[in-house]
Amino acid sequence: MILFLKLDASEKDVEKVKEKVASLGCTPHLIYGTEKLAIALTGPTTSLDEEEFLLLDSVQEVLRISKKYKLVSREAKNEDSIIKIDGLEIGGDNLTVIAGPCSIESRQQLFDIAGSLKEMGIRLFRAGAYKPRTSPYAFQGLKEKGLEYLADIKKELGMLIVTEAKDTETLGLVAEVSDIVQIGARNMQNFSLLEKAGCIEKPVLLKRGLSASIEDLLMSAEYILAQGNFDVILCERGIRTFETYTRNTLDLNAVPVIKKLSHLPVFVDPSHGIGIWDKVPAMSMGAVACGADGLIIEVHNKPNEALSDGFQSLTPKNFEKVLSKLSQLAPIVDKKFVRGFEVKSC
Ligand code: PEP
Ligand code: MN
Repeated sequence: MILFLKLDASEKDVEKVKEKVASLGCTPHLIYGTEKLAIALTGPTTSLDEEEFLLLDSVQEVLRISKKYKLVSREAKNEDSIIKIDGLEIGGDNLTVIAGPCSIESRQQLFDIAGSLKEMGIRLFRAGAYKPRTSPYAFQGLKEKGLEYLADIKKELGMLIVTEAKDTETLGLVAEVSDIVQIGARNMQNFSLLEKAGCIEKPVLLKRGLSASIEDLLMSAEYILAQGNFDVILCERGIRTFETYTRNTLDLNAVPVIKKLSHLPVFVDPSHGIGIWDKVPAMSMGAVACGADGLIIEVHNKPNEALSDGFQSLTPKNFEKVLSKLSQLAPIVDKKFVRGFEVKSC
């Protein structure tokens, strides 16, 4: 259930509505739109009577949300959510690109790649310190040491950090360094992790699970919003199908479908989505043409020597070509391509 408040509702009115909601055993969630203030209710709402809320002076309209997911739905908030990080805006008419290696391998490797990306104007830098690998014998990441290197990148290059939290135990440490906390495909339904991510004050990039439906993804995002963290980016990263010629099948259908159902920004990861570096540019363009708000792309200076996902990683040079194509494509799909730093070359 969602309560739309009158335009002139005061802070006191809002408090009154929140108290009323709480007294009925439900949780109120404030949703700020540019035009309207709404309060979404979660909890035992089915037995509630709409009329009870309409008796409050400041409540203009009461709406029942028909979907299973509530807070993530466009019914709760019609306009696109925009996530603000240190002057950068994600979502709405902004096109954002996150780039970097799959894993942090050494301080030197990280600085070499980050340096080239900064030259291209990329501000959001990705790199994994904790790596959830299919095999227990594969490189598991530099863990805490990796986080230290990321903190150095942030301090010395001024980049914004996107890195994965693999479990509830290390989420706090990861959140300290990151500007966006990534929750990986394999953890999309780790509900304890989702709940904890809902309590941090950092945006979360939630990747779609390998065999998860669009609704599963939206329900997982709901876990995070329900705890009070509304800064969630949904990410399509390919799903498992019978196809063997590609690593995964990038489900670009998900982009317009989710954009219609949810106000949250939708990103695409073409690197994991197709898993083959020379096809990443095509899928990047395809994703943006489909309406994606952003991309997360793996870039490595020595893909052949990468400790993980080298085969799907672009060299900085090839990545630069993608960026210049995206700059041309963005205005055609009514997007502003914002890199975050001034573009020095490219
Ligand atoms: C990654 O981004 O390197 C990663 C492990 O992604 P996913 O969770 O989508 O497999
Ligand atoms: Mn990877």
